[in-house]
Amino acid sequence: MPTFFETKVEFLKGIGPQKAQILNKELGIFNFGDLIQHYPFRYEDRTIFHKIADVNETHVFVQLKGRVKYVNLLGDGNKKRFVAYFTDGKDEIELIWFRGIPWVSQLVKANGEYIVYGRPSFFHETFSLAHPEIEPLGATLEKFAAFQPVYSTTEKLKNFGLDSKGFSKVMKSLLEQAMQHIRETLPATLTIDYSLRSKKEALYGIHFPKSQADLDQSLHRLKFEELFYNQLKIIQLKSSTKAQIRGLTFRQIPLVNEFYKSHLPFPLTNAQKRVIREMYDDMKTGKQMNRLLQGDVGSGKTIVAFIVMLMALDNQSQACLMAPTEILADQHFVNIEAWAATLGLKTAKLKGSTKKSERKLLLERLQSGEIHLLVGTHALLEDTVQFKNLGICVIDEQHRFGVAQRSRLWQKRASLNVSETVPTYPHILVMTATPIPRTLAMTFYGDLEVSVIDEMPAGRIPIKTVHRLESQRLAVFGFLKQEIALGRQVYIVYPLIEESEKSDLQDLVNGYESFCREFPRPQYQVCMLHGRMKSAEKDVEMQRFLKNEAQIMVATTVIEVGVNVPNASVMVVQNAERFGLAQLHQLRGRVGRGAAQSYCILMTGNKLSHDTREKLSTMVRTNNGFEIAEADLKLRGPGDLMGTQQSGVLDLLIADLGKDQELLKQARQAAQHLFDNDQYLQHPENKLIKAQIESHRKETVNWSRIS
Ligand code: ADP
Ligand code: MG
Repeated sequence: MPTFFETKVEFLKGIGPQKAQILNKELGIFNFGDLIQHYPFRYEDRTIFHKIADVNETHVFVQLKGRVKYVNLLGDGNKKRFVAYFTDGKDEIELIWFRGIPWVSQLVKANGEYIVYGRPSFFHETFSLAHPEIEPLGATLEKFAAFQPVYSTTEKLKNFGLDSKGFSKVMKSLLEQAMQHIRETLPATLTIDYSLRSKKEALYGIHFPKSQADLDQSLHRLKFEELFYNQLKIIQLKSSTKAQIRGLTFRQIPLVNEFYKSHLPFPLTNAQKRVIREMYDDMKTGKQMNRLLQGDVGSGKTIVAFIVMLMALDNQSQACLMAPTEILADQHFVNIEAWAATLGLKTAKLKGSTKKSERKLLLERLQSGEIHLLVGTHALLEDTVQFKNLGICVIDEQHRFGVAQRSRLWQKRASLNVSETVPTYPHILVMTATPIPRTLAMTFYGDLEVSVIDEMPAGRIPIKTVHRLESQRLAVFGFLKQEIALGRQVYIVYPLIEESEKSDLQDLVNGYESFCREFPRPQYQVCMLHGRMKSAEKDVEMQRFLKNEAQIMVATTVIEVGVNVPNASVMVVQNAERFGLAQLHQLRGRVGRGAAQSYCILMTGNKLSHDTREKLSTMVRTNNGFEIAEADLKLRGPGDLMGTQQSGVLDLLIADLGKDQELLKQARQAAQHLFDNDQYLQHPENKLIKAQIESHRKETVNWSRIS
């Protein structure tokens, strides 16, 4: 016997089998419960009237009350339009119709008073409203008096009467029936402590709020619940992983001490020392470490990784470090081999391109334990790579490994450990140069401990960032010439989102040619790098830049990862509006690596959206990767930021990690408190939570069966 919420939608009055089928297909709505959770995606607040003077681009919709001064029919053919000049007594705005002109010219007359509702658009330096809803003042006051829900729908559903208004009708009747069946899903302790309204009120209020305050309270309650169960799930997951998995115990640290006392190439920053301590605290207890190390580009993660790897070596284990590209693997190898040599340790490098004979020997030495440290690329993951006793695996992801890839990697970790007699897993350290906002780390990486290097080595000169318009390019060229005259080098980056985009590639090539003209030989040399080039060609161009034979490198984002040219001091980003914040920050990280003052110049056209201006001003304002990540989260939302929605833990329906950070903290705190006091949910007052988790689990199972 299905519960009320499990009842199929076809049994709802006004739906029936045909609409039900379309709801299934188009929106994944199967039962009453699904339908109730089809929350409005916005509301038309018909309780507020805007002033024309206040209309700006942050308004999605505005409602105005006033008088049409006069009307006009303009243009011919398909340019024909009906324009009403509308005033609220103070200012004026144009209302424009391109379609339905006969009808609208009947309705809209000079000197008539109206209520107008529409989306402002900015054109020719002023705002106007195209195809607004318009009603004579006083005609249907009721229609405009309420706060109206707007539901997302599809063309197909609209054809069957389920447009937003249709949904609204169906929802009203469903909610009326549902009221007596809605159970409370949070215990009174939480609803009281966190001042949350009841589930019933919240569900009604999210669909049919009477006011903004009513809506806010409903959202608050439902988001809290969602985040609370999300965090509880993560806390439970984390504790069960911890309970099941044992790690190697690393107590001895003679090599670490020796390196620290006698061979450190520079004094560590306090942040570096702190994170090393955090990791040692994990590993000395026999806990299996799963840790995310975050630190901005240049914050010095490599030496931290090396010292942590030494802990494994100190305890008769081996260590490996995996990098996302061959170039990066090479760079790491150079550093790590040099540091390891000071302690008499053996290091090796394994890449996809490692020759067969060399590889065979290497694998033998690895298995015999002769090699202490292995550095490489994905090639490390192959089954033939067997360690004698792998103690720790460091993954330098440099934001290249997606969430999905990483999870594949963790499943692989058992096979990274060949020593069957020891049922323990190697410790895992993931390093990322893309700072992740705390809220995201708490959800996406909720099962990982997080360490943060939030301090740059002393003596770094902060990069200066400016925004320049395309029309100022001559001044920019002049600046580049000055810098080159000082012996510095310059990157010019073009967007090439898809390597297959022909027009983007053409822009890059045109750009290259115009730089060649502006910076002529023999005084200047310009080189070019993009993903479509053959790898031998790429090498040649890269080498010219590395050796400072070319002063200017025109490139796509292929230079984002892996290039280290300390002499390069200027990064010019063309069409900066087309890059995401995180990407701009990564690009900027390519300069500022040497002793010189470095610059990042963000070039754009004149016309910029609100979000773009926000993005650019963030870049100009701060060099702090965490601040940038927070801003990025607010602008783009978590899905885009992480490159995938498929996280398993991040199945949030209404909470927004960008906007609801404070609420997430509260929910986290509540979940942790509950878990600490009643881990197995045995107290009577937590029965409800237990039941709720059970039913969540059941839903998930249902879903996997359906999809
Ligand atoms: P990232 O965190 O981006 O991987 P790296 O480990 O490559 O940073 O370090 C960037 C540069 O800073 C390297 O040249 C490194 O040797 C240097 N470095 C790291 N830590 C310190 C420090 N404490 N003092 C001075 N230089 C440091
Ligand atoms: Mg690095």
